[in-house]
Amino acid sequence: MSPDKPLSLIDGPAIDTDVVIVGAGPVGLFQVFELGLLGLEAHLVDSLREAGGQCIELYPDKPIYDIPAIPVCTARELIARLQEQIRPFAPVFHLGQEVTEVHRREDGRFHVATSRGTHFRAAAIVIAGGVGSFQPRRLNAAGADRHEGRSIHYRVRDPQAFADQDLIILGGGDSALDWTLALAERARSIVLVHRRPQFRAAPASVARMFELREAGKLDFLEGQVQEIIETGGRLAGASVRSSDGVTRRVSAEQVLVFFGLSPKLGPIADWGLDLSRRSIRVDTEKFQTSVPGVFAVGDINDYAGKKKLILSGFHETALAAFAIAAYLKPGEKQHLQYTTTSPLMHKRLGVAVQPAIEAEPQRRSVAG
Ligand SMILES: Cc1cc2nc3c(=O)[nH]c(=O)nc-3n(C[C@H](O)[C@H](O)[C@H](O)COP(=O)(O)OP(=O)(O)OC[C@H]3O[C@@H](n4cnc5c(N)ncnc54)[C@H](O)[C@@H]3O)c2cc1C
Repeated sequence: MSPDKPLSLIDGPAIDTDVVIVGAGPVGLFQVFELGLLGLEAHLVDSLREAGGQCIELYPDKPIYDIPAIPVCTARELIARLQEQIRPFAPVFHLGQEVTEVHRREDGRFHVATSRGTHFRAAAIVIAGGVGSFQPRRLNAAGADRHEGRSIHYRVRDPQAFADQDLIILGGGDSALDWTLALAERARSIVLVHRRPQFRAAPASVARMFELREAGKLDFLEGQVQEIIETGGRLAGASVRSSDGVTRRVSAEQVLVFFGLSPKLGPIADWGLDLSRRSIRVDTEKFQTSVPGVFAVGDINDYAGKKKLILSGFHETALAAFAIAAYLKPGEKQHLQYTTTSPLMHKRLGVAVQPAIEAEPQRRSVAG
């Protein structure tokens, strides 16, 4: 947090808001809800083009079993439900842009700027940045960078784009195996390449992959890509060095790389906050960082006993919201109100107040 930023930059056209939430993962989304109940508005910024954080980016179709009162739902369903739940508070999303700068202004508010030139004047900031800005681990092989985004991909946006193509899929985790299985019927050919015989992916997926290999529907190579092979400037395959020391040439039109995400905090590391083990240190009463007015919730924070679970993040948002309300309105008591019974909560949620249910007159049973 550098106070020495030129004022001209800080005082440009900016969006005024109570709170900027950095990160629109499940915890950032629920933070909107908890702030909304206390009458505070929020803008959400995320470097991804879609809200949902890890849930959407890493495991959209996997089931989650430990969300209270939802015995099972997919990660995508969870995000859809959260979006529905926060709709009454009309949060504004600024997607596909990274929060790059945070400075305290002379008036005590914060100036927040994004990589796409969006500026905010915010009374408080909540960092819900998860593992940081998502940066897939890149394929480190000669010639790879020339084909990134064209024939070398780090995510699948449209599976149909890979129909009837020769594919090399790299990796041994859930994403690599899930996409290998999902594309097995559509692609012309698939060679899965993983550097060792052990997989991080679910055993059932690995077993299914070997079944498909037995059936001749795909191939598996244990090894590492050394070099991208080109023909006339187009990607034509890769040379793969196997663990037996032999280098093989594998033909392909597209290479899909699933090496996971590098856990980098990104620009958050430069905002002058106390960090511990690549996380932001917070207290457990307010979930405030070392800078008053800047809070951190969800996977990004660290405190004694921290568990990186969605459930824990939801709890943190409630306490952070109360702390933010107290920070913005010092001296004003924040009463805990139930959404079930409070007319103010009903008003903020935009729900019709239920008329009191009249007790049914007691029936007497007449004997005889
Ligand atoms: C395969 C897998 C399965 C899981 N299963 C479960 C489960 O069953 N139950 C459970 O409770 N948890 C599970 N988790 C963990 C759970 O997904 C995380 O705890 C949860 O996503 C954390 O939410 P979050 O909102 O804190 O962060 P994230 O979901 O990581 O979202 C953070 C967002 O912040 C954005 N961001 C970061 N820095 C910036 C910046 N500077 N500017 C703009 N945007 C930024 C990122 O792009 C990202 O979208 C699982 C995780 C994985 C990988």
